[in-house]
Amino acid sequence: MSAEPDRDLFGVAPPPAAGSKAALAAKGYARRPGSGPAGETCGSCIHAKGIKIRSGRVFYKCEIIKHRWTSGPGTDIRLKSPACEMWEPEEKPLTETHKVG
Ligand code: SF4
Repeated sequence: MSAEPDRDLFGVAPPPAAGSKAALAAKGYARRPGSGPAGETCGSCIHAKGIKIRSGRVFYKCEIIKHRWTSGPGTDIRLKSPACEMWEPEEKPLTETHKVG
């Protein structure tokens, strides 16, 4: 039995190295984007949430790391980002215009 080079024996991808570009860019994601099922995105994940602010703009965040959310862009996610290993299917995949609440 062999694991994929970037995953451990349990199929879990390691987090990006501390301080690496990937780690800095992926603060809003529960796990490394792209470590989840192929073809899926944050937009089709039940954990992606839209936060609407007074101006009407919507920011998207991952509910799994809600305890780390900031009010800034550092913990935002992109709905088009490839899914991470914590991805779970949304019953009805939503678009950016519908995924608020
Ligand atoms: S795929 Fe889901 S669990 Fe992973 S970062 Fe995106 S919204 Fe969060």
